[in-house]
Amino acid sequence: MHSSVYIIWLIIILTTVILIILLISQVYKVKGLKGELEKTKKSIDEMDEQAKLILRTDLELNKTHEELDRKMTSINALQNISRAISTTLEETQIFKSIREYHIKDMGFEKALVFLWDQEEKKFSLNLSLGYPQEKIDPIINFVNANKDYYLLLIKREMPITLYSKNEDRTVKDKIMKALDVGNFIISPILPKEGSKGLMFVGTGRLDTAKEEGDDESIAILANQLGQSLENARLFEKTWAAQQELEKRVEERTRELSRVLEEVNTISKRKTDFVSSVSHELRTPLTSIKGYASLLLSGKFGALPEDVKLRLAKLNNHTDELVQFINDLLDISRIESGKVAMQQGRCDIKKMVDEVSDLLSILLKEKRIEFSYSIAEDAKYVLADAAQIKRVFINIINNALKFTTEQGKITLKSCSTPEGIQIDIADNGCGMPEEAQNKIFEEFYRVDNLINQQLRGTGLGLTLVKNIIEAHKGRIWVKSYPGQGSTFSFLLPPAA
Ligand code: ADP
Repeated sequence: MHSSVYIIWLIIILTTVILIILLISQVYKVKGLKGELEKTKKSIDEMDEQAKLILRTDLELNKTHEELDRKMTSINALQNISRAISTTLEETQIFKSIREYHIKDMGFEKALVFLWDQEEKKFSLNLSLGYPQEKIDPIINFVNANKDYYLLLIKREMPITLYSKNEDRTVKDKIMKALDVGNFIISPILPKEGSKGLMFVGTGRLDTAKEEGDDESIAILANQLGQSLENARLFEKTWAAQQELEKRVEERTRELSRVLEEVNTISKRKTDFVSSVSHELRTPLTSIKGYASLLLSGKFGALPEDVKLRLAKLNNHTDELVQFINDLLDISRIESGKVAMQQGRCDIKKMVDEVSDLLSILLKEKRIEFSYSIAEDAKYVLADAAQIKRVFINIINNALKFTTEQGKITLKSCSTPEGIQIDIADNGCGMPEEAQNKIFEEFYRVDNLINQQLRGTGLGLTLVKNIIEAHKGRIWVKSYPGQGSTFSFLLPPAA
């Protein structure tokens, strides 16, 4: 019995121990489960947080997207306005090319542009969008009543907005009331040329959603407007200057042709006068010369020597006068085109030989060496031989006159792209630079010792020039005082 009780107790104890062990293991299990539960709760919380974050990000993304869309539309509008105003070179047209839908696309409903009129000392309205007609005058009056403030804004060169911190709230309120806007941006227009101004833009309602970028876009627009105004004004200035210039050129041309006409009339009158006077003079001169020759011939009886001497002088002077009158007549005839040049193929060498023969006595007397060289390709000219011989005689005669004894005269002919060029050079007294253009004018003679001693008319070179020009040629001189002169002229070549 005792052992069975003992066994029972043993069983009870064992069972109790097993139960306790089971209980302890269960307690541990529950503990583990609790931890798991907490972990799961934590992850659920975290997931919840993430879901909220995703939602918030999505919302923000949507907002950014919308904002981006708005900005894109605004930039597009800005680009469109810029394109429209930068291709216009007329001031009024610039304002006309800014349309209400441009402003709307930029996120505004109303726009005004004022320019300062320096002469009138007031602001003038150049553009108004989104305002009914009856609102315009009160707005103009409002801006001009506060012109000092708006001039200051121009001077500051900075845009102001409803949110500008350095601006008084009451000022802003007044602007909003006068312009009938809930939100506004005022940006200065600053062209370098001409009057400056201000651009006002605004929304109808109080729109706190306006972003910082808006005043920048309006500043860019105002800047672009300033640039376009500057271009237009510069263009207008240049255009006006060009018009003025054209007008002046036209006036001058008219004046010149009138003067030219007058000169032509006077020149014709002079030519007519010279030729009729010359004719009138030639007739009595011929008879004076005739009588002098008759008397000299002794047909009316022998004359005392001193009378003969004086009659011979009278004869010589009459010859000189006739020569002078002939030259005058020829000049006026050639000038008026009354003498037609009998152009033909002239042999230069032949003409020069004839002239040097004619002048040989004078050349010998002064012991002046005359030589010439004629290039192979410059032997013939298309000219009136008799007239060109007069040219040679006149120029060589002058060279003789203005060259001291034992001097040298050379003649050279060569071919140039402009024609046959003939140069006649001497090593005589030469002439100063300022005389070189004048010697071809009628009656001009350089004031030098030779001219003081020898008589001359100052007509020879005028005649020469007229003859050369009647051949469509050109004559000029190069001369160095004390060294000599070279007379050059061009004539058309003959095959
Ligand atoms: P004139 O010989 O009758 O004075 P010209 O018309 O032939 O008139 O010449 C005008 C002037 O040109 C001359 O008076 C002289 O002063 C100047 N002149 C012409 N040829 C020469 C020359 N070869 N050397 C220097 N001066 C010259």
